[in-house]
Amino acid sequence: MALQLGRSRVVDGQVAWITMFFMALFHAGAIVALFFFGWKPLMLAIFLWWVSGSLGIGMCYHRLLTHRGYKTPKWVEYIMTVCATMALEGGPIFWVAIHRIHHQHSDSEGDPHTPREGKWWSHMGWILSGEPLHHYTDELSRYTPDLARDRFHVWISKWHWVPLTTVGLLILAIGGWQYLLWGVFFRVVIGLHATWLVNSATHLWGSRRFVTRDDSTNNFVVAILSFGEGWHNNHHAHPVSARHGLAWYEFDINWYGICALRKLGLAWDIKTYKLHPEAHPQATATTRPAPVVELPETMPAVLSKPEPSEAELISA
Ligand SMILES: [Zn+2]
Ligand SMILES: [Zn+2]
Repeated sequence: MALQLGRSRVVDGQVAWITMFFMALFHAGAIVALFFFGWKPLMLAIFLWWVSGSLGIGMCYHRLLTHRGYKTPKWVEYIMTVCATMALEGGPIFWVAIHRIHHQHSDSEGDPHTPREGKWWSHMGWILSGEPLHHYTDELSRYTPDLARDRFHVWISKWHWVPLTTVGLLILAIGGWQYLLWGVFFRVVIGLHATWLVNSATHLWGSRRFVTRDDSTNNFVVAILSFGEGWHNNHHAHPVSARHGLAWYEFDINWYGICALRKLGLAWDIKTYKLHPEAHPQATATTRPAPVVELPETMPAVLSKPEPSEAELISA
């Protein structure tokens, strides 16, 4: 039976107190940072936001580990995984499992964070309410057989807070409190809300190019804040595509990052979906059909679902 991680897992206003404590602490730190503004600390924050949010969450946790949209050498995968842990969104096994379950049950019973169960719930409530989600680690790892076989991913999933703590202490030692407030507290909070907006806003507001079973949308603002993850309707329609911004005007920094890795010879076997000009006349498109997607046989069924037929496509 599928793991039920929707709102029904919360009984009697139960709260995940440890998560709540750290979220309150980081938000307080982010607010304090505003009173100690400096351009150099801001630059550090932007740089680390890109490292953790783009190299880490978007390019690695999401497009590489969850959906296997491209391949990299193992050492690149591991470095990017460490970058992702610095977003404070948990280890790879937790993140990937939750996200695969989200694709399996998008906006229906069992989706860990659908706005159909409340806007606040889908944004932040789902990690603060109920039993802490890491109590479900054994069940969650069933959704990540590929990662559970990899000793590095098992190890970093347990110790995911270590890289951020280490970097935080280094920043404090070298730059002092002002850099710590901006490079860690403020930056982590912005990154968290950017990711959460993908769960909340891009299942609520925006345009829908593809008819999908869920409520996913393409949202420009969320795409900017999340390095391209906000082209979420494109993504739900074609989950394995490593490219989410399908038209030239759909800014997708994570995709540009993957292209840069390809140029360096560090990414190959890249799956992309190409828009069909008949279906999407206003987009730049090629007539090449979508590539056949191969997935490891251990992958949950949701990730190997076939591309929708042309009849299911609508014009943007
Ligand atoms: Zn979604
Ligand atoms: Zn996804």
